[in-house]
Amino acid sequence: MKDDTPFDLAVVGAGAVGMACAMWARMRGLSVLLIDENLPGSGASYGNAGTIATYACVPVNSPGIIKFLPSLLFSSESPLGIDWRYALANMPWLLAFLRNCSASRVHTICDQLGDLLSHTDAGLDPLIDEAGAGDLMVTNGCLYVYSTEAGFAAAGNDTEARRRNGVEFDILDADAIRALEPALKMPLHKGLLFSGARHVRDPQALIMRFHDWFTGNGGIWLQSRVSRTMAGNAGVTIELPDGRTCKARKAVIAAGAHAKAIAGAGTSGLPLDTERGHHVLYKDRGGLISRPVGWADGGLYATPMAGGLRIAGTVEIAGLDKPKSPGRIAYLTRKSHEMFGDLGVPDEDWLGFRPTMPDALPVIGPSPTSDRIIHAFGHQHIGLTLGGITGRIVADLAEGRVPNFDISAFDPGRFSKR
Ligand SMILES: Cc1cc2nc3c(=O)[nH]c(=O)nc-3n(C[C@H](O)[C@H](O)[C@H](O)COP(=O)(O)OP(=O)(O)OC[C@H]3O[C@@H](n4cnc5c(N)ncnc54)[C@H](O)[C@@H]3O)c2cc1C
Repeated sequence: MKDDTPFDLAVVGAGAVGMACAMWARMRGLSVLLIDENLPGSGASYGNAGTIATYACVPVNSPGIIKFLPSLLFSSESPLGIDWRYALANMPWLLAFLRNCSASRVHTICDQLGDLLSHTDAGLDPLIDEAGAGDLMVTNGCLYVYSTEAGFAAAGNDTEARRRNGVEFDILDADAIRALEPALKMPLHKGLLFSGARHVRDPQALIMRFHDWFTGNGGIWLQSRVSRTMAGNAGVTIELPDGRTCKARKAVIAAGAHAKAIAGAGTSGLPLDTERGHHVLYKDRGGLISRPVGWADGGLYATPMAGGLRIAGTVEIAGLDKPKSPGRIAYLTRKSHEMFGDLGVPDEDWLGFRPTMPDALPVIGPSPTSDRIIHAFGHQHIGLTLGGITGRIVADLAEGRVPNFDISAFDPGRFSKR
């Protein structure tokens, strides 16, 4: 590390979001320090479903959620789990989430996410090209399937929101779905085929490729926890737990669901929480399907990955401290057997922390406390998809440029304005 000369930019967090921020800033010629206490891509970005979900403008927030809440919360076959003690202690987040479930709020959120998602390729493809990571990408579409007529009908507004946002898809009947994916064994009513969609065969390998490019092209990597950032007129001092400090003109907080724990960064007052998600993996079963299959009724994706068949998803509201949930893992195992027949015991299971704001919109922009600190977190279910464009926006802000589209919907200060 350099002694006194500050870096142009320090990035805290090397997940899908922070890694893209660091790489974009380095591609623009800035001197960049990237810090993470863990290996790059080993947080939420490790075990996701791998979809580049440009079609996913529909948030979990939904006007129907109040009606379906009792069955979602109390059925053992529900894709939603909740730790009531945690939820009661975090009631303000839940109430804010529910406030963002009105039809008009959901309509606005869909359009704001849709706008950001429309820039996905412009943010991601330059990184993939520079890093020579095209071999990790698969373009074979993505299927989203509904087992019942009622489930498909209830998703009518979602389908309409995708159409409004220019998402291209075909509606398939059960025979057409089975012709594409003959291994599926659960009941099928209808499906949406997003023909142009891509997925990543190994999300952590993709982030490691970006990291290799970064360190091979002058970026500086430091494996350490960051305990505090202090912004002043001259720049930002970053404090490590062992007392060492680093200096940068600007700093980015891209620490995902853990961003609130960094003192002095202006994150502690923001309503960031986590939607915990799990996966199970069946090695050597990746060949069962040829594209990601999202099963709406199960709240999960099955994705053919380099390491096998990954069944990833569900939402659990239980915070950052509890370990993996055996109930969620048992649910995913049961559902994967319903989808494909008896797959036996999974070879791997995993828990990851989606970073989620109650309005389902990420936080991208200057901190409410200092414009030397840029926030880049809260990408909920689509951070692998949105990491690249977030990185490009952050590089613009670090250089003092205005991004080429309106990012005011993602302003970290929006919560104090409402
Ligand atoms: C089951 C599941 C399925 C998903 N499927 C998809 C999908 O198909 N497509 C999609 O686009 N998205 C998907 N997502 C969402 C996506 O994985 C997340 O939105 C994304 O990974 C968030 O990236 P991030 O960089 O913000 O966070 P993370 O990947 O969690 O990275 C944050 C990093 O910050 C580091 N850090 C935290 N605190 C500190 C500190 N104090 N000091 C130093 N370092 C720190 C952590 O070690 C970590 O490496 C899924 C998520 C889950 C859980």
